[in-house]
Amino acid sequence: MSRPQYHAVDSHVGKTPLIRLNKLSELTGCEILGKAEFMNPGGSVKDRAAYGLITDAEKRGVLKPGSTIIEGTAGNTGIGLTVIGHARGYQTVIIIPETQSPEKLQYLRTLGAEVIPVPAKPYSDPDNYNHIARRMAEERGWFWANQFDNTANRQAHYETTGPEIWEQTAGTVDAFVAAVGTGGTLAGTSLFLKEKNPEVTVVCADPYGAAMWSWFTHGNLDNDDGDSFAEGIGQGRVTRNLEDITVDKAYRVDDQTALSVVYQLLREEGLFLGLSSGINVAGAVKYALDHGPGLTIATILCDSGAKYQSKLFNGEWLLENGLDPGLSVEAAFERNS
Ligand code: PMP
Repeated sequence: MSRPQYHAVDSHVGKTPLIRLNKLSELTGCEILGKAEFMNPGGSVKDRAAYGLITDAEKRGVLKPGSTIIEGTAGNTGIGLTVIGHARGYQTVIIIPETQSPEKLQYLRTLGAEVIPVPAKPYSDPDNYNHIARRMAEERGWFWANQFDNTANRQAHYETTGPEIWEQTAGTVDAFVAAVGTGGTLAGTSLFLKEKNPEVTVVCADPYGAAMWSWFTHGNLDNDDGDSFAEGIGQGRVTRNLEDITVDKAYRVDDQTALSVVYQLLREEGLFLGLSSGINVAGAVKYALDHGPGLTIATILCDSGAKYQSKLFNGEWLLENGLDPGLSVEAAFERNS
């Protein structure tokens, strides 16, 4: 027998299971499949981007042993950069809007990142978290990962998420659904899948208050109606990662529908997920109801609900914010159709 090969944690990003969501597959007559990104070492889909951003910077010679990585992030990219960074000998400084869940801030601090919470400001404001990260990198000579506009992000999904979904569905995938934060997941995965089969339909699921539904449907960045509690998604501009991609269909998903999906997956499938996963799966169900039955539809289960206990799984918080964890998926979709 040949000697077994063992690898450190940074080699174990990706190769996540593709999970059949049984109840929603039965409801729609389609195969609704969720990529279990919460199983990555840092617990989210953003480990893939973090791996790609760090590896690319090493290849370009901008990251050297002992370097510091700085990033503006809703949290998950920061966690991924810190996990992979520590495995490779880098420190991280994380600029995070203070509106993000306390669990993510705590998680980052426990991992040993330097965490700098800042007031949430729009991208147009010079004190938006990304601009602060860029300025601090320039001043101190740190590496700014720049996940929104550094296309090493989408390249990671082109090289891993896309091929994995293609192989796991034996090339039978009909549609791929994803929400947009940086756009890395949607762009990289869809570029690969469409290269394999141009007939694969690419679907964007967008929370209210974001501009991607409007961008992919009407070609304008109109985002002035509504808001969402989903963290890590909700984009108002065309990032470099989103440039030149083809998105065939976009849906807007409200928070109540996403929450009903999250609770249904929790109670009937044993899956404990955050709200962006609910937006994604709701988008997949909408597409299945519009275009099924008989389709194979893949989407992303971005991260675990454990990071949002104090909000999504806290009765008082839900009540204060007008969200009902008892509303069925069927009733939520009915209300929205
Ligand atoms: N869901 C969660 C929980 C996230 O943290 C992110 C990334 N910010 C996304 C979805 C969106 O991923 P992407 O940046 O690849 O668009």
